[in-house]
Amino acid sequence: MTEDPAVRSQRVGTFYDLMGTFLDAVYGDNLHYGYWVDEHDQATMPQAQERLNDELAGRLAVGPGEHLLDIGCGTGGPARRIARVTGAEATGVSLSGWQVERAGELAIKEGLADRVRFTRADATALPYPAGSFDAALALEVLVHVPDKAAALAEAHRVLRPGGRLVLAELTLARPMDDEQRRIFSAMPMSTPPTAQAYVEQVRGAGFEVVDAFDASTHVRRSHRATRESVARERERLSGTYGPRVLRQVGNAVLDLQSVAEACLGYLMLTARRPDKG
Ligand code: SAH
Repeated sequence: MTEDPAVRSQRVGTFYDLMGTFLDAVYGDNLHYGYWVDEHDQATMPQAQERLNDELAGRLAVGPGEHLLDIGCGTGGPARRIARVTGAEATGVSLSGWQVERAGELAIKEGLADRVRFTRADATALPYPAGSFDAALALEVLVHVPDKAAALAEAHRVLRPGGRLVLAELTLARPMDDEQRRIFSAMPMSTPPTAQAYVEQVRGAGFEVVDAFDASTHVRRSHRATRESVARERERLSGTYGPRVLRQVGNAVLDLQSVAEACLGYLMLTARRPDKG
């Protein structure tokens, strides 16, 4: 059964509000996978996470005077990095008030507050007029959104004609069994579409697909890195959350990594809102 979208949004916001400190410790400012060039690449997880941001910055192709919308911005690591390397302005939205506040504080601390801002908003009902942005990014966000068509329609609406949409999302590579689906929905996420289904959904929302790249092998090392990080931070954070909560959440993240390793791929997709339409 599909969860009611409003209930899901509330659950996602609460999850990130409550788990902010834990996720910060495990992932840092970039609440997403890392990108390794090949098997000889010696990058650490934080370096590989910045590399993923830079890959996406290249795909977004924004520059000074242009405005990026980061849909599902977390604590804003990607938006701040992309703004810094491209010179563009960035606005991030998240369902978590905790994340939005932290993202804003870090923007001030990093001297970016004149160009980078964050707001609490839902990807399926964006508080912006049509054609407000030159580019939009959805980085490991749609896995939380049951109504992906609604989120893609909103991205299409707020982009100017000719504007780019870049997705970096988990995809279904092999079918999940009931237990794997249960682990996923606890996070709270939904079983993702296949890469091909994503491409079709993006086209269905009115975009031209410029490029769809299967990056599964490039992000694979993230699972082990995340497991190691959870093991490290569990000890340190037991005073903040209490051992029971921490055990549950730590196990949920570890279970998620094993499902991801067994069943999921990773798609980096660049699309464009056509000049007309
Ligand atoms: N893109 C960020 C965060 C990824 S974590 C990064 O890579 O660092 C997932 C993020 O998606 C969280 O910030 C969560 O609040 C956001 N999110 C999930 N569903 C959303 C929705 N419907 N609307 C807006 N943000 C959403």
